[in-house]
Amino acid sequence: MALRRPMVAGNWKMNGNSALAQELFKKFATKLQNDSAEVVLCPPSIYLESVRQLLEANKQTLDGALVRMGAQNLSHHDFGAYTGEISGQMLKDSGCRYVIIGHSERRRMYGETSNIVAEKFAAAQKNGLTPILCVGESGPAREARRTFEVIAEELDIVIEKNGTMAFDNAIIAYEPLWAVGTGKSATPEQAQEVHAFIRSRLSEVSPFIGENIRILYGGSVTPSNAADIFAQPDVDGGLIGGASLNSSEFLSLCTIAM
Ligand code: PEP
Repeated sequence: MALRRPMVAGNWKMNGNSALAQELFKKFATKLQNDSAEVVLCPPSIYLESVRQLLEANKQTLDGALVRMGAQNLSHHDFGAYTGEISGQMLKDSGCRYVIIGHSERRRMYGETSNIVAEKFAAAQKNGLTPILCVGESGPAREARRTFEVIAEELDIVIEKNGTMAFDNAIIAYEPLWAVGTGKSATPEQAQEVHAFIRSRLSEVSPFIGENIRILYGGSVTPSNAADIFAQPDVDGGLIGGASLNSSEFLSLCTIAM
């Protein structure tokens, strides 16, 4: 039987500050239980150390609730002359457990190809980080009924480059590009359809992985639409952008996900 603990990951993007982290931890102490969804904070890398310190300082009050830290990006190189980049090893050393890979903003604005995404995925795993791989189709691709094709390609390249067990230690986030940051979320049915497709595609490679991998939905999730989306059988929580910057909304999403 699959044991997929729901996860709610907050992608702050280039927003937030250490005050937001402090505000969140104050609320975690009263609202999260040890059987709550796993919560992941992905602040800009300059704030990872503040979050790490808060995690350390709040160990007692969290009392078994799972709050973890993730980065928003990493270099596919291990070290060297790559000004401005951060390696997987550095993120691991800073206390990260997860790293978001292949976010549509990075693919679209920073020219990250599927090949680079697959290399970043490998760099994350090699350094003991769990990749949160974002996949998703554009609006025109959906209109042309190419959603499954696009997503299959994005998954296949990672498997091709990293082997059939690539997703043994990974999370997938289905983030349709037309829903990220637009205020127009996928319907619960649309999300479920794609999540089921992802699960069945991975089951072809490994039934164990297909059944057990956590697949998050991301794209304009708010407390008002989350319950129906998170209730879908193949949706294991969410990757949250805008609503992760409001501590009350984020906490309410963490509660809804359980
Ligand atoms: C995201 O950036 O991963 C995201 C899902 O953003 P939003 O929730 O704002 O759509």
